[in-house]
Amino acid sequence: MRILLIEDEKKIASFVKRGLKEEHYTVDVAYDGEKGLFLAGTSQYDLIIIDIMLLGKNGINVCREIRSEKVDVPILFLSAKSGLNDKIFGLDAGADDYLSKPFAFEELLARIRALLRRKRENKTTTLIVSDLTLDQISHTVMRGGKQISLTSKEYSLLEYFMLNAEHVVTRTMISEHVWNEDFDSFSNVIDVYVKYLRNKVDKGFKKQLIHSIRGTGYMLAQKKK
Ligand code: CA
Repeated sequence: MRILLIEDEKKIASFVKRGLKEEHYTVDVAYDGEKGLFLAGTSQYDLIIIDIMLLGKNGINVCREIRSEKVDVPILFLSAKSGLNDKIFGLDAGADDYLSKPFAFEELLARIRALLRRKRENKTTTLIVSDLTLDQISHTVMRGGKQISLTSKEYSLLEYFMLNAEHVVTRTMISEHVWNEDFDSFSNVIDVYVKYLRNKVDKGFKKQLIHSIRGTGYMLAQKKK
């Protein structure tokens, strides 16, 4: 899952980015509203976090501009202002949630998970496909009752596959939701990671779950269609 963080305080930005990366999110940071708008307009984010008090274009205007283009993406405001009117103003500008600074990081994570679940039919934090399970809170992955140890990137890739189970995902979709803006689209890094993942998830099992779809990408499914 890929998150855009628009925050001008470098210390807070790096603290939040590090914490999100530890939770296996892919993160891009913009230190001002203009860069944030540019990234929001050119990449596919699963969620956007915006600090309200930004130098230059403020977070409220950034949110309004994003909303005028992208209706769907969940937006969460971070703000040092905690008054009732500030929250109402922020939510009315098009944000889905609002968290006052200082905040407990665990609360930010829980709010992010809740926002990311909204569009899903299945609202639980455990993803299940056949005998493969992924727990989005503990980040535990099990197949056939045995725990599988994954690297952060392998986990993000598997989570993306499982969220889109039974649907074909293209390499472009994978690059936009699992990698960040530093991704080199001419490399074969996605195929390499899928190979790593197959070795851990499918190798030694009778039923293969990760299928290659020729000329398109991949699909995680009970059966190849
Ligand atoms: Ca700020």
